[in-house]
Amino acid sequence: MFNFNARIVVKVGTSTLAYSNGKTNLRHMEELVRVLADLHNSGVQVALVSSGAIGVGIGKLGLAVRPGDTPGRQAASAVGQCELMFIYDKMFGEYGHTVGQLLITKNDVDDAERRDNLVNAFEKLFAYGAIPIINENDSVAVDEIVYGDNDNLSAQVARLIGADMLIILTDRDGLYDADPALHPAAKRIPVVEEITEDIVRLAGGAGSQLGTGGMTTKIQAARLAGEAGICTAVINGSRPRDIYHVLEGQDVGTIFKAVKK
Ligand code: GLU
Repeated sequence: MFNFNARIVVKVGTSTLAYSNGKTNLRHMEELVRVLADLHNSGVQVALVSSGAIGVGIGKLGLAVRPGDTPGRQAASAVGQCELMFIYDKMFGEYGHTVGQLLITKNDVDDAERRDNLVNAFEKLFAYGAIPIINENDSVAVDEIVYGDNDNLSAQVARLIGADMLIILTDRDGLYDADPALHPAAKRIPVVEEITEDIVRLAGGAGSQLGTGGMTTKIQAARLAGEAGICTAVINGSRPRDIYHVLEGQDVGTIFKAVKK
């Protein structure tokens, strides 16, 4: 059984939160919120790094494709972020939980003073019993100050708050020993003891239409978290209840072990 005093970061990607047309996947969101609300009830401190601002904004604005220009993405994220938080607030509210939104840019983590402020805000939210929901501040983030993907951002958050584990939800069952789209016999890798060059190579390829990422950024995130002694699980976001199974130590997804000190 898992440690009820644990602090975890859960990262959810656009491919889990939205259909490919940008409309919100309420089924996934409902299941995810229920699991996180229940974990919070059990005493686990949860921070949720949620993508989807741009993807959901595209859906809400009725755009045919992801905007190719920065202002277009800024505008889409401004719309989509509102919508996302509205839904999270409503869904977590149904279970009696309070959420707080933190929109972060790379500067907020790189600059020591801003980082301290950020950590203080996190700690106060936890002390108040609220659930922090984090995204990159896409409506103001321009090229020089972006992470660009929430996988790396989620690893930074895990480090900032000293999480016990980072759990990344994605649209596949974990890391495979070959691309399952091309090789039907490809096998899931249950545990990665060390992120070697071979592992990095396996992760090649891009993400979905609406989001960014893909496996490469998940490996980067696992490395970043692992260096800080935090292990990372990559699991399928279509089954949010697998978060329980990961915490119970069952064989699900791919677990990237933390670097041994
Ligand atoms: N921050 C972006 C969004 O909310 C997503 C970045 C990512 O897909 O990792 O739309």
